[in-house]
Amino acid sequence: MTSPAPAAQLLHAARSLATLGLNKGSSGNASIRLSDGLLVTPSGVPAEQLSEKSMVFMQWDGTAEAGKKPSSEWRIHRDIFQARPEVNVIVHCHSMFATTIACLGRDVPPFHYMIAVVGGDSIRCAPYALFGTQALSDTALPALQERKACLLAHHGMLALGQDVSQALAIAVEVESLCEQYWRLLQLGEPPLLSAEQMQSVQAQFKGYGQWSKQPR
Ligand code: 13P
Ligand code: ZN
Repeated sequence: MTSPAPAAQLLHAARSLATLGLNKGSSGNASIRLSDGLLVTPSGVPAEQLSEKSMVFMQWDGTAEAGKKPSSEWRIHRDIFQARPEVNVIVHCHSMFATTIACLGRDVPPFHYMIAVVGGDSIRCAPYALFGTQALSDTALPALQERKACLLAHHGMLALGQDVSQALAIAVEVESLCEQYWRLLQLGEPPLLSAEQMQSVQAQFKGYGQWSKQPR
C-alpha cells in the first residue's frame, strides 16, 4: 500500500489537531519533510478552510512557493527538520493544558512515568520569545534536544514525529500529561520519580507494545 501524498498527510495532521481539540481557530500549524524542502500550513487559515492546495512548499533557504504565505512559524519548522534528521512531521498547538503550564514557564517534571515518552525526564519549557521570529526558533531548538516535544513559554507546545500519527500521538500525550500536572498543582507539588526510576521506564519501553512481539 502506498502512503497518501504529503499534502494529504499534512491536511490530515492539521485537521486532526482541530478535531482532537488541540487547536482552535487559526492557532497552531504543522509541517512535513520533503526531499528538497518542507510543506507547511498557510498562515492564519482555520483548519476547516484548509485544503491540500493551500499547503505551502518551502525550500530549505526559506523561499516560499510564489503567491502563498507560509505559517509565521516556518523558521521553527525549517530549523527542526535541519537539526533533526529523524523528524518528518512537526505539529504546533495552543492546546488548553499545555498552554496553561507554558504560561507558568515551567518544565513538566517526572511526576508520571509517561513523561519518558517525550524522550527524557521532563518536558522542557522554552523561554518566551515573540511568535513568528527567529528568536522563538532559537529558544525552541535547545528545549527539544533529545526530546519529541517541548512547551513554549506563554504560547503553546511543539510535538515531533517520524510520521503524522506519531507527532499527533505525542501532542495528545503531552496535553494529557499537562492536564494531570495542572490538576496535581491544585493539591500542591507532586512527588517525582527519580532519575533511576525514569531510566528503568526507558528500558521497559524498549520491549513495550508491538515493536517486540516477544512477551516479557
Ligand atoms: P500561523 O497561522 O502563521 O501558523 O500562526 C499560528 C501560530 O500558532 C503562531 O505561533
Ligand atoms: Zn503558536
